[in-house]
Amino acid sequence: FPPERIRNFSIIAHVDHGKSTMADRLMELTGAIRKGMQEQYLDKLQVERERGITVKAQTVSLVYRHKGADYLLNLIDTPGHVDFSYEVSRSLAACQGALLLVDASQGIQAQTVANFFLAFDQDLAVVPVLNKIDMATAEPARVAAEMQQAFDIDPASCLLASAKTGRGLEQVLPAVIERIPAPQGREEGRLRMLLFDAYHDEYRGVVCLVEVVDGQLHKGDKVVSASNGEQHDILEVGVLAPEPHATGRLCTGQVGYIITGLKTTKSARVGDTWFLDKQPVPALPGFKPSKSMVFAGIYPVSAADFEQLDHAVERLTLNDASIAFKKENSAALGAGFRCGFLGLLHMEVFHQRLEQEHGASLITTAPTVPYMLEHSDGSKTEIQNPSQFPLGQKLAGVWEPTVVATIVTPSDYVGRIMELCQDRRGDLTEHAVIAANRTLLRYTLPLAELGGDFYDELKSLTSGYASFDYEESEYRKADLVRLDLLLNGEAVDALARVVHRGKAQSMGRRMCAKMKELLGRQLFEVTIQAAANNRIIARETISALRKNVLAKCYGGDVSRKRKLLEKQKEGKKRMRRVGSVDVPQEVFHALMKTN
Ligand code: GDP
Ligand code: MG
Repeated sequence: FPPERIRNFSIIAHVDHGKSTMADRLMELTGAIRKGMQEQYLDKLQVERERGITVKAQTVSLVYRHKGADYLLNLIDTPGHVDFSYEVSRSLAACQGALLLVDASQGIQAQTVANFFLAFDQDLAVVPVLNKIDMATAEPARVAAEMQQAFDIDPASCLLASAKTGRGLEQVLPAVIERIPAPQGREEGRLRMLLFDAYHDEYRGVVCLVEVVDGQLHKGDKVVSASNGEQHDILEVGVLAPEPHATGRLCTGQVGYIITGLKTTKSARVGDTWFLDKQPVPALPGFKPSKSMVFAGIYPVSAADFEQLDHAVERLTLNDASIAFKKENSAALGAGFRCGFLGLLHMEVFHQRLEQEHGASLITTAPTVPYMLEHSDGSKTEIQNPSQFPLGQKLAGVWEPTVVATIVTPSDYVGRIMELCQDRRGDLTEHAVIAANRTLLRYTLPLAELGGDFYDELKSLTSGYASFDYEESEYRKADLVRLDLLLNGEAVDALARVVHRGKAQSMGRRMCAKMKELLGRQLFEVTIQAAANNRIIARETISALRKNVLAKCYGGDVSRKRKLLEKQKEGKKRMRRVGSVDVPQEVFHALMKTN
C-alpha cells in the first residue's frame, strides 16, 4: 500500500459511548472478524470484559474498498477512562485522525472534552460521530449543536450512526478516507519509526507496536533506539488483523508489530524513535513518560506466599511498563512491594489482574500520592510511603500534587458539586455553560482528595449525571500531617497516612472506631489510638474478655473440639501480630478503605 492509500486513526470517546462496539462493527464490515464473534473483540483482558472498559489500547489493520481502490486502515482502539489518558495520547501519536464518538442521548461528557483536546493538540483531523441514534432518547440535533458550541465543529459534518444496529455505519469509513489525511512520511527516506506500545506475549516475548513514519522496515533489519542506542534485530514483522499476521515488511505510513527478542518491555521505551543501524535520523517528538501518581503497598495475605507474589508482579509488569515497583518491608505485613500507578482505577485493575491471572491473594494498603518534603536547607525529597513522613523533624513545608479536574454536569447540580469540591480543598478556575442546561466546571484539586469516595460522591450527588476527568497539574504547599494508628502503643506502619491537618482528628476517630469494631472481642485489654504527628488525637479501648474458643464446647465431643482448634490455627496463619494483638488480614483490608 502506498502511503496515500493508508489511514491511521483512533476512536476516542467518553467511557461507554460505544468505542469498542464501533471497533467491532468496523472489523465486521471489513471482514477482519466474523459477525457474531465475541463482543468487544479488542477488549482482551479479563478485567476489561468484566468491567466493560478498555484498559490497553489495541490495534487492528483493516482493508476497505472505496471508489474502486483498496485502502489500508489502521484502527487503534483506546481506553476512555481518565487513568489511561496516557494510553490515549500515545495511541494518537501514531495517528493522523480520530473518530470522536458521542452518545447522542447523553451529549458531550468530561472525557469527550479531554479526548477532543488531546487530538486537537496533536493536530489530528477529527471526524465527529453521533452514536446510539437507535435509542429513543437520542437527540442528535441537540448534540450536534453542542459540538459546535464546545468544539467549533460544524453540525453538518457530524455523522449519525448506531454501532449497535449498524445504521449509518456505511458512511464512517468513507469519511475516514476522505477527511483524514494520509501519513506524510518519505518513502525514499531512511527508516524512522515510532514505538507507540509494547506488550509481553508468553510465547513471543516482547511485541512492539510501531508506526513506520519514513522509509521501510524489513525482517532481518538491525535497528537502533534513538533514546539509548541499544541495538535490536527484527526477528519478525507484520500487521495485526487483528491477530498477528507476519508480512516480512512494513512500508511508509504503516502500523504494525515487530518482535525483537527483547525479554522485558522495560527496554522497549514507548515514545522512542528507532532507525536502521548506522543510518541515524533525528528522533520524532516523543511523548511525556508516564509518572506514577498513586502508590500503594501490595503484600501477600500469607507471608509464605511472597515468592509467588514476586513472580506474579514480575510477570504483570512485563506487560505494563507504566507500573513502577520496588520491594519494601512492613513491620505489620512483612515483605511486599511498593507499586506506583497512573491512577486509582489503574491500581484496582492491577490488583484484580494479579488475583485473576496469577492466583495471588493480596492486601493492598490505602493508596497515597507522592509528597514532596521541603527541608530547612531548601532541598526537597519525594516520599511514596506515608511511613517515610518524618516525625519530630522540622520541615520547611510539604508539597502535594494537584490535578485540574473537568466536570461536565446538568446545571441543576452545580451548587452541590461546588460544595463537594470545596470540601475537598478545591479551587474553582472555570465555570462555563456549554449547552442548554449543561455546565462545565474546572477545579484545581489535591490529587489525594480524589481517592476514597470522590467519584462515588460525585455520582450520587448528581444521580450519575455528572462526568469527570482530570489532568495532572503542579505541586502545591499544604498543611499536612502524618496520621498513625497505634495498637497498645505500637504504630501499625502499614496503616500510616498523610492527611490534611484539618481532617486529621475526624479521620483518626473514624479509624479508631473502625479498628475497635473489626477487632471485636479480645482476651486482653487493647488500646487503640490515633496520633497526628506523634500527638494522640483519638482513643478507643477494648476491654478484656476471658473466654476461649473451647469454652463453648465444654464437655462436648472430641472431634468437634479438634475441628475448632484446627480452625483457630487456620485463622492464626492469616493474622499479623502488632503490639501483641493478633490482627486478622480482613482488618487491614477494611481499614485501608476507611476514609
Ligand atoms: P466504550 O466504553 O466506549 O468502549 O463503549 P462500549 O463499546 O463498551 O459500549 C458501551 C455500551 O453501549 C455497551 O453496552 C454497548 O452495547 C452499548 N452501545 C454501543 N453502541 C451502541 C449503539 O449504537 N446503540 C445502543 N443502543 N447501544 C450501544
Ligand atoms: Mg471499550
